[in-house]
Amino acid sequence: MSWEENVRRVTPYTAGEQPGQKNVIKLNTNECPYPPAPGVEKAAAELDCERLRLYPDMNAEKLVNALAGYYHVKPEQIFVGVGSDDVLAMSFMTFFNGDKPILFPDITYSFYDVWADVFRIPYQTCALDTRFRIRMEDYLQPNGGIVIPNPNAPTGVLEDVEMFEEILKKNPDSVVIVDEAYVDFGGRSMIPLIGKYENLMVVQTFSKSRALAGLRIGFAVADEKLIRYLKDVKFSFNSYTMNMPAIELATAAILDDAYFKEIVGKIIRTREWTKEQLRRLGFSFEDSRSNFVFATHPEVPAQELFAALRAGNIYVRYWKKPRIDNYLRITIGTDEQMRTLVLFLENYLKER
Ligand code: PMP
Repeated sequence: MSWEENVRRVTPYTAGEQPGQKNVIKLNTNECPYPPAPGVEKAAAELDCERLRLYPDMNAEKLVNALAGYYHVKPEQIFVGVGSDDVLAMSFMTFFNGDKPILFPDITYSFYDVWADVFRIPYQTCALDTRFRIRMEDYLQPNGGIVIPNPNAPTGVLEDVEMFEEILKKNPDSVVIVDEAYVDFGGRSMIPLIGKYENLMVVQTFSKSRALAGLRIGFAVADEKLIRYLKDVKFSFNSYTMNMPAIELATAAILDDAYFKEIVGKIIRTREWTKEQLRRLGFSFEDSRSNFVFATHPEVPAQELFAALRAGNIYVRYWKKPRIDNYLRITIGTDEQMRTLVLFLENYLKER
């Protein structure tokens, strides 16, 4: 027998490229085009390096308290982790431990099936309709749990909170995770409903609207009982997930709310401008309420456009996957970056 027979074999998640060169317009991983809040920069300058000698606060109390204050929930209703990827992975491990398949959309964040595979969780995908909308009935079948992003990725489509409430009510025996990675760009968060549904877990991130992808910070808000179970698994895995600088700087980001609102507003305005321009160039897309647009062109294959843009040092995201292989996911950058993108596409379409 070879040791290889005992290996947990998995096909890993493929993250968007992080190109080495500086002169690239990077619209491929939904990062924020603006720097973190001035409050974060100040907190970074004041970091006490002597404290790095010690282990960090394993409960990240400072950050948990700041989040609890900001979202008007109890600290016991919050869990923090190393990006929402960490929070989601821990949640899959904790809550999806039955024999029935968990459910998520066929077109969605492509890490869900990877976690299901690595933790040996059975899963079933539910097809979005032709306009990339969730078909609520799909989530009323027997299941071992549900996870749906709102707005969805990579489509950008936002569903009503009422639809999620219906799913929650009809699935009292399942944990329902709503991944709100992009909710700050025009969605309605389900956090205010935490007290109402014991089986609801909302996950958010500091990587997009709070301009801190590099620090890796995410969090979950849920009923205290859910959070307790989640912590039990976390503390059975790694006590010190969040490092001291991450805890300090994320707290500073939460406290600098004026800046947060300013950059989110700017990104929304740039998104609306970008939509108009893409429409003018013949692209079509469902309405996005996120910091990206998922667009297709009737004449030019997405894969060709992706390659042309890349050669022009503009990076967007493309998946060679069923149903979405003629779409590009374009992150909303600064006004100047989006003007460059639009000009490039205009010239390309003209000269082709
Ligand atoms: N959920 C969704 C829907 C995402 O698109 C992403 C970003 N790749 C994440 C979660 C994870 O983000 P992070 O780990 O940076 O918080």
